Amino acid sequence: HHHIDHATPEKVEAAISEDDTHAHVPDYETYKTYAASGGYTELTKLRDSGDWEEVQDQIHESGLRGLGGAGFPSGKKWGFVRNHAGPRYLAVNGDEGEPGTFKDRFYLERTPHLFLEGMLIAAWAVEADTCFIYMRDEYPAVLEILRREIKELESAGIVAEGYIDLRRGAGAYICGEESAMIESIEGKRGIPRHRPPFVAEVGIFNRPTLVHNVETLLWVARILREGPACLNGTELNGRKGLRSYSVSGRVQNPGVYLLSAGSTITDLIAVAGGMLDGHTFKAYQPGGPSSGLLPASMNDIPLDFDTLQPHGTFIGSAAVVVLSDQDKARDAALNMLRFFEDESCGQCTPCRLGCEKAVKLMQADTWDQALLTDLCTAMTDASICGLGQAAPNPIKMVMKHFADEV
Ligand code: SF4
Repeated sequence: HHHIDHATPEKVEAAISEDDTHAHVPDYETYKTYAASGGYTELTKLRDSGDWEEVQDQIHESGLRGLGGAGFPSGKKWGFVRNHAGPRYLAVNGDEGEPGTFKDRFYLERTPHLFLEGMLIAAWAVEADTCFIYMRDEYPAVLEILRREIKELESAGIVAEGYIDLRRGAGAYICGEESAMIESIEGKRGIPRHRPPFVAEVGIFNRPTLVHNVETLLWVARILREGPACLNGTELNGRKGLRSYSVSGRVQNPGVYLLSAGSTITDLIAVAGGMLDGHTFKAYQPGGPSSGLLPASMNDIPLDFDTLQPHGTFIGSAAVVVLSDQDKARDAALNMLRFFEDESCGQCTPCRLGCEKAVKLMQADTWDQALLTDLCTAMTDASICGLGQAAPNPIKMVMKHFADEV
């Protein structure tokens, strides 16, 4: 497993002062190193004489699913996009803004070419004209690494100049929603679109567009190089494959841990060095704030796609936050709703007003649970996108599992 070196305020200060781009660029695998160890040979082979459907079969076999949160089978998307006439585009969603999620950053600051090769393989598979990388601007080191390494790829003749178009996000969480991201790439205000039509048919500039998360593409490269078993060869608690969990909160060593997809919260806390001294495990966010909170008593659920649905939640991007007896679930939920209130794009009423109203109601000593329940239903049923639809989850889960607090 891996974990991130914890950034102390002193280290952040030092990083800022030593480089006026404000990017402290860590050691990472450069083009030279990657290519010297066989990197880009898969891509070259495919471009010479590859059959995209054979590649798709391997992706299917590996069980790879979208790792941005939605969990859609990755190979299937390629077929949807190819069903529509070109020109086609590929867009990488690197707007990693989900609170508690930092896995894409972790990988990009270490093995950027595994991601870039995966992206170019997917682009080859759908015959994309251009690859847009929409990258979170709060990741200056990642942006610097990508700028440098895209230039390397151009110099090496792997891509034509301008084929990879690196775009900076502007700090709106909603731009991580794929259709809002596409609006933003087109130069417009980032607000989600109504669907259908889906972006596989009507995406960037109305062209068929393949959208993938950063980590998903990294796995595409690994699967082609090492075979599908690098992903599906692991099994635990009846679950196949691996997950990159971002673990934070009241644990000794917050970080990104690549573990079996059948791992439970007990496994995650153990791998993160246990609870902080003096803290007792109380609750956890299993997959981003939209996934709400589960109590410590539910500690034996494999944290994977599909396994959390029966409990009214989901794994999302596997952003796990651990709470202790020194935290209140109601405070955590209020914090989540404040986040959604801030980040709601405002185009639909149930979400725009619903989040604001929920924050007010949640500040009362005793919650008006009947009113909150009605509000939750209206938001879930009538919001345009996942933000408004899932924002009530923390409220519902606190009422269900931490009723004594409200
Ligand atoms: Fe915007 Fe919220 Fe409506 Fe989504 S649900 S479109 S974020 S207002």
